[in-house]
Amino acid sequence: MNTDHRISRNQKRTSEEIYKQACKIIPGGVSRNTIFHQPYPHYISHANGCYATDINGIQRLDFGNNMAALIHGHAHPDIVDAVIEQIRKGTAFTMATEAEVLYAQLLCDRVPSFDKIRFVNSGTEAVMAMIKTARAFTGRPKIAKAEGAYHGTYDFAEVSQTANPTNWGDINQPNSVPVANGTPQSVLNDVIIFPYNDIERTLAILDQNASEIACVIIDPVPHRIGLMKGQPEYIEAIYEWTRKNGALLTFDEVVSFRVDYGGAQQNYSVKPDLTALGKIIGGGFPVGAFTGRSDIMKVLDPRENQLLFPHSGTFSANPVTMIAGRITMEMFEKDAILKLNILTKKAIDQIKEAIKIADVPISITGTGSMFRLHLKSNAPKNYREAYQTTDTRLLINEMLDYLFLDEKIMMINTLTCMFSTVMTQKEIDMLSQALLNMFKRFKSQLHSLDK
Ligand code: PMP
Repeated sequence: MNTDHRISRNQKRTSEEIYKQACKIIPGGVSRNTIFHQPYPHYISHANGCYATDINGIQRLDFGNNMAALIHGHAHPDIVDAVIEQIRKGTAFTMATEAEVLYAQLLCDRVPSFDKIRFVNSGTEAVMAMIKTARAFTGRPKIAKAEGAYHGTYDFAEVSQTANPTNWGDINQPNSVPVANGTPQSVLNDVIIFPYNDIERTLAILDQNASEIACVIIDPVPHRIGLMKGQPEYIEAIYEWTRKNGALLTFDEVVSFRVDYGGAQQNYSVKPDLTALGKIIGGGFPVGAFTGRSDIMKVLDPRENQLLFPHSGTFSANPVTMIAGRITMEMFEKDAILKLNILTKKAIDQIKEAIKIADVPISITGTGSMFRLHLKSNAPKNYREAYQTTDTRLLINEMLDYLFLDEKIMMINTLTCMFSTVMTQKEIDMLSQALLNMFKRFKSQLHSLDK
C-alpha cells in the first residue's frame, strides 16, 4: 500500500494541505457539497456549545449547527455522557434494543399524528421510506411535490429541486426537472410538480393526475424554496384534496420539526397521514424516522399475511443515535422551545433594525428558531421569486466569506441561521452587529443587485 501521504497523529497541517490530499481521493475533496468551499474548506478541530474552533485555533459563532441538526449546539454534556456510556457497551447489534423502544414511545407520545414510527439513518432515507410506504398503502405510483423543495436525494424526491428559469417551464404546469444527469424519464413521469402556497394552480395540477397520486409531499417551512410557512388555507386545501382523491398527505419535517413541540404540523387544523423526520432528532448522530397512521404503517409489519413493504437497515435505530436523540428531545421541551423561539424572534427584530440603519434591500423569512435573509427588499413568496441568479449567488458567497473570515460567524450557505438552545442575548448581539457591519460594507453591491 502506498503510504506516502499518510501523516502522523501529531503532524499539524493547514486546511489547504489537508484539502490538497482530499482532492486526490474524494471528488471535489468533500463528501457533502454543502461544506464545499473555494479555494478550500476550513477544517474543524472541535466545537462546544455555540462555538466551533478550526484547526488554526480560530473560534466562530455557529449558526449552521450542522445544517440545522444540532438543537442544543455542540457536545452537550448530558448527551456526551449518555453516548459514551452506550459506546462502552457496544454501538450496533444484530439484536433489538430497548433504547429504540423508549425513543419511539417518546416521539409517538409527543405528536398526535405519530401512531407508529420507524427509524432510519438520514432524512433522505426517511423521505424515501415514507414515499414507499405511501405507494405500498395506496398501490399508486406517483408523488406530487413543490417546485424547489429539498427532500433529500432519493430520485423521486429530488425532482425539480434545482429547477431554473431555463428549464422550469410554465408556472401553470411546471416541468419535472431532473437533478442528477441520467435520471430515468420514468422517474420524472411519476413526479408531479406544483408551485408552493399557490392553491389554485396546485389543485389544478393535482386534479390532472388524481387517480395516480400516492402522496403529496409538503415541507411546512421549506428552506430551499425560501423558508416561508405553508399557509394554513393551502395546507387545508391539499388535505381536503387528498381526502377526496384517495391520496395521502405527507409532511417532510426533517428541518421544520424544531419549530414547535409537535413540529410545524402542530399549527395546522389538519394532520398529515405520514411524516418524515431527521436532523435534530438524532442528537448529533445520523438519523431519520418516518411515522404516521397505524393503518398505513401496517404495510411495514412483518406479522401481516402479506408484507407490502419489506424494510430494513443495518444501522437503523442504532442505540447511540436512539439515546442521543431521546436525551436531546427530552431537553427540547415546551419551555425550552418557547425560550428559543423568543430569542430567535428577538434576533430577527434586531436584524430588521440593522437593515433599516444600513438602508439595504434585504428581507427576512422564517419561523420558530430559523430565519433566512434574501437579497431583495420584498420577501419572496415562492421558489421562483426566491431563486438566486448567478450574480446573487456570487454576492452571497462574498458575504458568507466576510462573515466567516472577518466576523467569525458561520451561517448556512443560503444566508440562513439555525439557532440552538445554548445561545443567549450575547450571541444575538454579536450576530446583529456582524450583520450590520456586513450590510454597510456590501451596501452598494446590494443596491445594484436589487435594481
Ligand atoms: N428533507 C429536508 C427538508 C432537508 O432539509 C433535508 C436535508 N437538508 C433532507 C430531507 C435530507 O436529509 P439528510 O441530509 O439527512 O439526508
